[in-house]
Amino acid sequence: MGFSLEELGPWFASILAGLLGLLIGSFLNVVIYRMPKMMERQWAQECAELGGSPPESLETFNLLAPRSRCSSCGHLIRWYENIPVLSYIFLRGRCSACAAPYGVRYPLVEAVTGALFFFCAWRWGWTLTALAWCGFSAALLTLAMIDWDTTLLPDDITLPLLWAGLLSAALQWNPIVTLPEALWGAVAGYLSLWLVYWAFKLVTGKEGMGYGDFKLFAALGAWFGWSALIPIILMASIIGAVIGIAMKFTSGLREGGYLPFGPFLAGAGFTAMIFGPQSILQFVGL
Ligand SMILES: [Zn+2]
Repeated sequence: MGFSLEELGPWFASILAGLLGLLIGSFLNVVIYRMPKMMERQWAQECAELGGSPPESLETFNLLAPRSRCSSCGHLIRWYENIPVLSYIFLRGRCSACAAPYGVRYPLVEAVTGALFFFCAWRWGWTLTALAWCGFSAALLTLAMIDWDTTLLPDDITLPLLWAGLLSAALQWNPIVTLPEALWGAVAGYLSLWLVYWAFKLVTGKEGMGYGDFKLFAALGAWFGWSALIPIILMASIIGAVIGIAMKFTSGLREGGYLPFGPFLAGAGFTAMIFGPQSILQFVGL
């Protein structure tokens, strides 16, 4: 017996994608929390090896093991305490054992991932195009959160995002760019921020951004094409200025007043995905 999801209507496919997004969002929370710690452990290990000391035998720590625990009391999170969004509401945002509060960002990341997946399925139907943009959304959200927390953009996410953008263009899963547009987008994205970085460094002696930002901008170039780079950098600057000013007024700025640029690039990437890169220019009145 064969049936296609399309026959059940666009809403059914979108809701299914949204539910899948909630589950993926739950996994993204793990990646956002653990990947920086995994990178730290790897650096410590490499430093120890360079220093000639024997590698320490550390407990397994990766994206799948060990199982999640409460960071306050060590209570093992059971499966029914780990249902996206719902568990947070039922537990009123607290650990069931010690009542330590969990951050509201966990259900938020799940809800945002669900909403983005819902949008992709609604916009592109039950297609490989929608699948590609779901992957794009998951990677971009993860990068934004990790950069916000640690000012790092892991190569393990930026580089696959870049390759996936080129591949989706080559396979014509991504209808908004041709392969040459995607390729030149990646090249121009990387080089333009690299030039800005060096110009800024020569003039001020400071580093305004990191290499991760070049790779992320290159990835956005691969997904949207070279002609979207200027709208995206404009949008990222506007979002950055608004959030920077808001944080100054609420004195939420961290020491040195440094804000990572990755979350704003990601915000511009989502704006371009939802409204189209050229609508950004209309939005700023160009
Ligand atoms: Zn606890």
